[in-house]
Amino acid sequence: MSQYYKPHRKVDWNYGGPRWRLSRSKIDLFIQCPRCFYIDNKLGTARPPGFPFNLNSAVDKLLKKEFDIHRNDETPHPLMDAYGVDAVPFQHEKMDVWRENFKGVDCFHKPTGFTVSGAIDDVWVNPAGSLHIVDYKATSKDEEVTLDAEWQDGYKRQMEIYQWLFRQNGFIVSDTGYFVYANGKTDVAVFDGKLEFDIKVIPYVGNANWIDDTLLAIYACLNQNEIPKNGEACDYCTYRKAVGEVLQPFIKKDAPGTKEVSPKSKGDVSHEQSLFS
Ligand code: SF4
Repeated sequence: MSQYYKPHRKVDWNYGGPRWRLSRSKIDLFIQCPRCFYIDNKLGTARPPGFPFNLNSAVDKLLKKEFDIHRNDETPHPLMDAYGVDAVPFQHEKMDVWRENFKGVDCFHKPTGFTVSGAIDDVWVNPAGSLHIVDYKATSKDEEVTLDAEWQDGYKRQMEIYQWLFRQNGFIVSDTGYFVYANGKTDVAVFDGKLEFDIKVIPYVGNANWIDDTLLAIYACLNQNEIPKNGEACDYCTYRKAVGEVLQPFIKKDAPGTKEVSPKSKGDVSHEQSLFS
């Protein structure tokens, strides 16, 4: 097992445990696949994480530094001027907490008893005192960056959850948020140890009306005993099912060194197949 992946977490971190919180990424996991969400949050076994995107993190860090200079000076960043955004980076004593993973901005949702949380990239404030939630994104593609692809719906939900969280904390939040999208250029003559970016500010008008119903659906899911069906467009379970099938002939109950395993025990291939088919 890789040192980075611990499949079974301590029960404190599961739903019902004192450290469990509903992060915005867990909400998105529920939307993508209630089954994975349930296995992760209720049964305590998470899917292996993807490899960290270090270049994206570097872009985030540099953008934060750059916007922080203007936050301290209470001046607009040149990108705000270039894109006609009448705002400055928001100053608040909790800004660093809001931006920290595993902390972030949170609120208590009374109907479900959930603490809902999310870590933002930035917040801007306009002259009327209303906040704009800002998210930094990095990519590298030949075409112009947009928010039009279906897979980017997750970005939009992310923005809407942050807008909702700030409203729950009593802030006046504009429906318009901004994506600061950095696109790594590959059409330069030489690399010369430097990656250059085109940076675009894309406004997005959020609608957080779906969130309350989704939280209630998550509550119902976590309080049922049945394992939900899996979502679509994920290859992990297909892989696990295929592995179960291919290993089936090798499972011999009476083979030396193997124990007969009850069908309900963890690790039994036939049980695995039934769970993941
Ligand atoms: S299909 Fe399987 S692995 Fe993929 S998200 Fe759903 S439960 Fe998780």
